[in-house]
Amino acid sequence: MSEQHSREAPHLTCVECQRSLQEYLDGGLEKPESMRVFLHVRDCTDCAEELGRIEQLVALLESLPEREPPAEFDARILASVPYDSYRAMAGLRRARVPVFLEEESLPAWMRARAVRYAGTAIAVVAVAARLTGLLPDTAVTTVVAAAGLVPGAAYALQGMARRLVLALGQSGERA
Ligand SMILES: [Zn+2]
Repeated sequence: MSEQHSREAPHLTCVECQRSLQEYLDGGLEKPESMRVFLHVRDCTDCAEELGRIEQLVALLESLPEREPPAEFDARILASVPYDSYRAMAGLRRARVPVFLEEESLPAWMRARAVRYAGTAIAVVAVAARLTGLLPDTAVTTVVAAAGLVPGAAYALQGMARRLVLALGQSGERA
């Protein structure tokens, strides 16, 4: 704002005054500006009340006892953590197995009981047909038999590994 008529201390509007109140209180205004705010507040009830509110707020903030958290603050926070619940879940945490050992990590078609049984049946039939001479003893029948066993074998191996991990976890829990 222009200072050319500051000697005449032209009146501030209420908006201008209230915008300057914080800086006025902080002592951050130039002398002429500060004087204009002072004069406006002296004659304006609204702005005087606003100034009073800001002064009260500043006084309240300055009267706060400590800015640092009290010494026992950390301990109180830690004490509020439900460690009993956390410890009660220790068994569950240890019982967890790697994701690739979870049944859900197998593709859905491999988990399907029908696929596993059908695959095993195909493998059995292929081996039996070879043994009885119905099918020639070729790489094709070997591959068919082996492929038929894949879903069931993967499922069974995964289940065995999972049970092993769980058993190890539980013996560790008891120790
Ligand atoms: Zn005013």
